[in-house]
Amino acid sequence: MGKPTGFMEWSRVPAPKREKVERVRDAREFVLPLAPDEAKRQAGRCMDCGVPFCQQGCPLGNPIPDFNEAVYRGRWKAAFLALSSTNNFPEFTGRLCPAPCEAACVLSIDQSPITIEQMEKEISERAFAEGWVQPQPPARRTSKRVAVVGSGPAGLAAAVQLNRAGHSVTVYERDDRLGGLLRYGIPDFKMEKGVLDRRLAIMEAEGVVFRTGVDVGKEPGYRALREQYDALVLAIGARKARELEVPGRELAGVVPAMEYLEHQNRVVSGLATLEPRWNAEGKRVLILGGGDTGSDCLGTALRQGAKSVTQVELLPAPPTIRAADNPWPRWPMVFRTSSSQEEGGERSFGLMTKSLSGSDGRLQKLHSVKVELLRQPNGGTRLVEVPGSEETHEVDLLILAMGFTGPDTSGLQEELGVRLTPRGAVQVDARFATSADGVFCAGDANRGASLIVWAISDGREAARSADAWLSGSSSALPTRGKDASFG
Ligand SMILES: Cc1cc2nc3c(=O)[nH]c(=O)nc-3n(C[C@H](O)[C@H](O)[C@H](O)COP(=O)(O)OP(=O)(O)OC[C@H]3O[C@@H](n4cnc5c(N)ncnc54)[C@H](O)[C@@H]3O)c2cc1C
Ligand code: SF4
Repeated sequence: MGKPTGFMEWSRVPAPKREKVERVRDAREFVLPLAPDEAKRQAGRCMDCGVPFCQQGCPLGNPIPDFNEAVYRGRWKAAFLALSSTNNFPEFTGRLCPAPCEAACVLSIDQSPITIEQMEKEISERAFAEGWVQPQPPARRTSKRVAVVGSGPAGLAAAVQLNRAGHSVTVYERDDRLGGLLRYGIPDFKMEKGVLDRRLAIMEAEGVVFRTGVDVGKEPGYRALREQYDALVLAIGARKARELEVPGRELAGVVPAMEYLEHQNRVVSGLATLEPRWNAEGKRVLILGGGDTGSDCLGTALRQGAKSVTQVELLPAPPTIRAADNPWPRWPMVFRTSSSQEEGGERSFGLMTKSLSGSDGRLQKLHSVKVELLRQPNGGTRLVEVPGSEETHEVDLLILAMGFTGPDTSGLQEELGVRLTPRGAVQVDARFATSADGVFCAGDANRGASLIVWAISDGREAARSADAWLSGSSSALPTRGKDASFG
């Protein structure tokens, strides 16, 4: 334990951020490091609970009290070794995780939780700066070859683990660059691409082979790939976007969030110039979808110089404090303000889009109606329109960020006989094995659109099962955080 009275003496101090007016003028990260003394105090607040709920809240089971204590005592390398024993990419989660561990921290019951996410960033950046993050190629190679399809966090985590187990791993990626949503979804202001490239270089030095621009299922087909390798890990994400099915959807000025964010990521990386259809400068922007993707679009539109931005959520606003049926340590379903929402723009809730209109094929107006959530006698809820609440909103750019419906599975069923769930995700058992022999699946492709920390966790578990399968030990290995069958 750090300091037994630390949590009583010191309050939570989050990491400093760059001023809002300054940070919206560029695409750089805006969360700054904690001063070393402050990091020590924040780690010293940890009570080393007998039952560390933080650790149960973390899908990776990170040894949070251990690394907090090590930071408090100034033993940064020990902190890094503890953290990296369960988390392949703490520099990603330390920047991007919504931190279910913090929601589950015992201090959250009546105080502010430990700054666990920031501590991961502090530890991993210290580790890179000190040269402690070095390639760890396997001492010995097995004769087994594994193909990983998809280079998002799930595929990368699976590749690291399988490579370290001695198998020869090739990662196939459809995009021109590696990283999945870390590359072409998440904006640089949340995580600069250099953080990803730094990790990819280490993986290459460890012996992982990367092939970009390869659309598996087309060329090569899934069956052909399976025949070339001893096992496959599918980590193809879940990028099929939910559509807006209203009259006027075809008008110019309506863009899917992933097109918008991918283009901006290419612009920031110097791979493209900003095209007018994805440029919010001087425009009245509406974003449909109140979630994280919409919020990233909001931050992007502000940085592009939008005239106004409103993020519109279909559902009513959540409560500001936990409801009685949503107790600690569960994830609190409460009203949140993201870093992008802090920066500017408006938010509106309980608004359903009925149609879009414009002239000369260009979007000009969005027609909406207010909706309310009505409790049903069976305990469920139903959205109902409020009579007479019709409104019209002027809009030049409408960004669709209404979530994702699942993975692109074309070819998987036909060529490999991989079964899908009723919702179209890849079906896996408790060991992340699909219905096809030697084919495993990790991340959003089986879980549905989720979080980086889950993708890393699934990637590790799928790798563990693939390794056991390759070495002929079917006695595999209990897994974390996964039901026997995913529906
Ligand atoms: C805009 C946005 C912001 C987000 N922000 C956060 C955040 O701040 N924090 C957080 O925790 N989570 C965030 N998420 C969610 C998180 O990014 C995902 O849960 C995570 O990336 C899933 O990882 P994955 O490896 O399963 O899939 P992905 O990251 O989607 O990667 C899948 C990869 O597979 C490739 N692929 C697909 N099919 C093929 C094929 N046939 N052949 C070859 N390659 C293929 C794709 O091109 C892609 O590169 C965000 C999501 C979005 C959309
Ligand atoms: S629950 Fe909070 S206080 Fe307790 S060990 Fe975990 S981080 Fe420390």
